[in-house]
Amino acid sequence: MTLETPLSRVLGPKTATAMAESLELHTVRDLLRHYPRRYARRGEMTRLDDLQVGDRVTVLAQVRRVTTRKMRNRPGSLTEVTVGDGAGEMQLVFFNRKHGNLREGAWGLFAGTVGEYRRTKQFAHPDFHLITGDDDEDWARALIPIYPATKDVSSWVVQKSVRLLLDASGGFGFVEDPLPEDLRARHGLPSLPAALLDVHRPTSQDDVDRAAERLKWDEALTLQLVLAARRRAAALEPGTARPRRGGGLLDAVDAALPFELTEGQRAVGEELAAELSRDHPMHRLLQGEVGSGKTVVALRAMAQVVDAGGQAALLAPTEVLAAQHARSIAAMLGPLARAGELDGDPAGTRVVLLTGSLRAAARREARAAVADGSAGIVVGTHALLQEGVDFADLGLVVVDEQHRFGVEQRDALRAKGNRPPHVLVMTATPIPRTVAMTVYGDLETSVLRQLPSGRGGVASSVVPASDKPAWLDRAWERLREEVAAGRQAYVVCPRIGDDDTGTAETDAPDDADGAPEETPGGDRRPPLAVLDVAEALHEGPLAGLRLAVLHGRMTPEAKEATMRAFAAREVDVLVATTVVEVGVDVPNATVMVVMDADRFGVSQLHQLRGRVARGKHQGLCLLVTELPLTTATGARLTAVASTSDGFELARVDLETRREGDVLGAAQSGRRSNVKLLSLLEDEELIAAARTEAAALLATDRGLADHPGLAAEVAALATDERATYLEKA
Ligand code: ADP
Ligand code: MG
Repeated sequence: MTLETPLSRVLGPKTATAMAESLELHTVRDLLRHYPRRYARRGEMTRLDDLQVGDRVTVLAQVRRVTTRKMRNRPGSLTEVTVGDGAGEMQLVFFNRKHGNLREGAWGLFAGTVGEYRRTKQFAHPDFHLITGDDDEDWARALIPIYPATKDVSSWVVQKSVRLLLDASGGFGFVEDPLPEDLRARHGLPSLPAALLDVHRPTSQDDVDRAAERLKWDEALTLQLVLAARRRAAALEPGTARPRRGGGLLDAVDAALPFELTEGQRAVGEELAAELSRDHPMHRLLQGEVGSGKTVVALRAMAQVVDAGGQAALLAPTEVLAAQHARSIAAMLGPLARAGELDGDPAGTRVVLLTGSLRAAARREARAAVADGSAGIVVGTHALLQEGVDFADLGLVVVDEQHRFGVEQRDALRAKGNRPPHVLVMTATPIPRTVAMTVYGDLETSVLRQLPSGRGGVASSVVPASDKPAWLDRAWERLREEVAAGRQAYVVCPRIGDDDTGTAETDAPDDADGAPEETPGGDRRPPLAVLDVAEALHEGPLAGLRLAVLHGRMTPEAKEATMRAFAAREVDVLVATTVVEVGVDVPNATVMVVMDADRFGVSQLHQLRGRVARGKHQGLCLLVTELPLTTATGARLTAVASTSDGFELARVDLETRREGDVLGAAQSGRRSNVKLLSLLEDEELIAAARTEAAALLATDRGLADHPGLAAEVAALATDERATYLEKA
């Protein structure tokens, strides 16, 4: 037996087929890496109250009462079985005597889907496995493993199958350990066979903990090796050096800056300048606090590349943002952005905007300028990725607000260079260190923590609209005061309104940042809508102010016109969806009122709030919710209001999201190899694995001396490739 042996050769054909079909377990390796979800102990039964309708669960319990009665409305009988374990009880329901030999006093495992009947939760016709006297010692153990299971393969079938492998191999002796001996010694990790034995058949919680630590290392190290290999491969790719040349755009940008660069901006700028000068492409992630000034850092890098004869492309997630970038870059460069025009400086270049909504003629012209190289700076949305957009010499790709783009899109744009261009990815908000090390693990990272000085900062509070309606009145009053003082305001709502279906607007293909769904369907009213709120404000608390709306259903021209009017202070209050979330920059806006704030995610709120922290005046952000602050969601809002540290909020955000959603991006293999590793709890382990992975690959021999590890890495890399192919 080896790890590659098909299960069909070791288990019965029926079991093997069921495992393959319902759990995607094909080989001995798959089964051994199918770890228990948890361990059942007598006296610690999962409480039915804690379970959600629809959950599929397995519990260990003893039969307490069995009562059978005839059904009233149809033939047949119904048996109700109460099981418990001293700590709690639950109700099982069987129809027509399908309850076999469930006798009072018997212990067993019961597996089923939690259902509800007349508002009481129950377990309808569950599968069960009775623990009889002649059963082997497996069931006498203190900890009974509960495996991820399906209707066709129950936890106890997995347990018995693992047992079979164990007996056939005499203690997993055939399993070779992929981890190098010295690495294990350094981190005090048990061998793989020992860890597998302990995770599947522990005698104590200590066994489980030690095994889990070791098995997490397998996951973390494999993932980090894949990422490190990608970083190395990228570093060896041939690229084009774009060294700094004086007297060009970059000098002009620096001369035109109306402010001093912060220390962080300068340091990161040096880092980028040096990397752009190498003849291998840069792959760098720039993450920073909202408002830390990432754009100017990117612009300076783009200017350096243009000075060196290349083109730079800036990819933005929305048309509003792309247009704003193009406008502000052109403004900053002045005549240098209008080479070829009458009032342009012939030493300059052209800044071209390329979005999906351009009319055919304008698009043709833009594409031509991109193709003949006269456009040194190209700003756009997804439209940049399309076929037919050809660059004369693409030297740098900047991806703004990366969370809206996938790795594939980044690669699609990269492929438009004659040689691989330099790549700079910017995140919208800070991300936790573990996410930087995994999801973005193939990039080197720079961080901007510092905000430019002279900012007023933002004061935030939660407005509990149902508990304290007077506070909401006060909120509108505050807004009016700010407008009276010459400032402007945003009112953000989760939905557009009118004929949309009540789903939240995101204005982006995939919104990784969406608020976690509280009650699917449920009895909550639909989220507040821009159109309704704007009308109500216009006729009520904000009567007399100049209001405008902005949302994703407007035409690009209308959106653009509205943003211009707002920037020109012709509008006092912009009632909008999250289209204002990313990057919109109007320093005179100082108030933001977020309606139904509970519908938004933590990072999203932090990002939104960043819109009113741009100028010298103090900003004010009011998070309006009808939920009581004592709920988990209320607590999230309080967290947002109480700190302006994006790195801390990123952590809160991670806690409220399902792990898989986050890792999914890095870990696109359908059968995720990350089962135990937690982005929240295993920061130290992931960092250590990253260091070990880099060290392993730093030698010329790479993984040649570690065939076991090489095989694990190859398996993960293949999985990923397979997924890409499927998508294509
Ligand atoms: P973000 O990092 O959130 O993308 P931006 O790049 O949009 O932030 O910058 C936010 C605002 O701060 C912009 O108005 C920008 O002009 C301004 N800004 C950037 N750097 C500085 C600086 N060093 N001093 C003062 N203001 C700055
Ligand atoms: Mg930005």
